[in-house]
Amino acid sequence: MLPALPGAVVEEIAAFGRYAASRGWVPATSGNFSRRVDARHAAVTRSGIDKGAIAPGDVAVIAIDEPVPPRLSAETPLHLARYRSDAAVGAVFHVHTVAATVLSRLYEREGVVRTDGLEMHKAIGVRTHESTVEIPIFANDQDTFALAARVEARLGADPAVPGYLLAGHGIYAWGATAADARRHLEGLEFLLACHLEERRLR
Ligand SMILES: [Zn+2]
Repeated sequence: MLPALPGAVVEEIAAFGRYAASRGWVPATSGNFSRRVDARHAAVTRSGIDKGAIAPGDVAVIAIDEPVPPRLSAETPLHLARYRSDAAVGAVFHVHTVAATVLSRLYEREGVVRTDGLEMHKAIGVRTHESTVEIPIFANDQDTFALAARVEARLGADPAVPGYLLAGHGIYAWGATAADARRHLEGLEFLLACHLEERRLR
């Protein structure tokens, strides 16, 4: 028996969707968002919906440990894998930004995008700007079950960065709460945008 979908969870997901849409991060119904409901369940967005206008019917509660039901995003396994790997993960947000899409292609062979010396490192839990952050990149794969297994194997029990890139695709970020996941995503996106801008100017 699945738990009911809490209205507050829908509102958190919808609020993030409106924000992401306002930034141009979820073009053409792309992106997907999820929020942990309890230890064994998560609320996830359905496939093909306008992420800037999410209604209660656009969000489904599913079991974290069971097969993904139909009509959900093909990327749902990537969300569920994060909840399974870390009980502290409470929200996972995935968007398609230009900086994430472009840089993940440029650095796919290296497997990381590095940023250094940026104050914004603090937004993702690094103590000082005097640091180098390595944002992992994974090759995109339509087999999202296999992809999720590769992602979790590399991230390990305590990922240094609360997010990763899929090459030519976009960015995932997570946090204990929806606010934490949003802050991490904003921070990572800012780092990527700065990196892209610097590359253009050099
Ligand atoms: Zn995507």
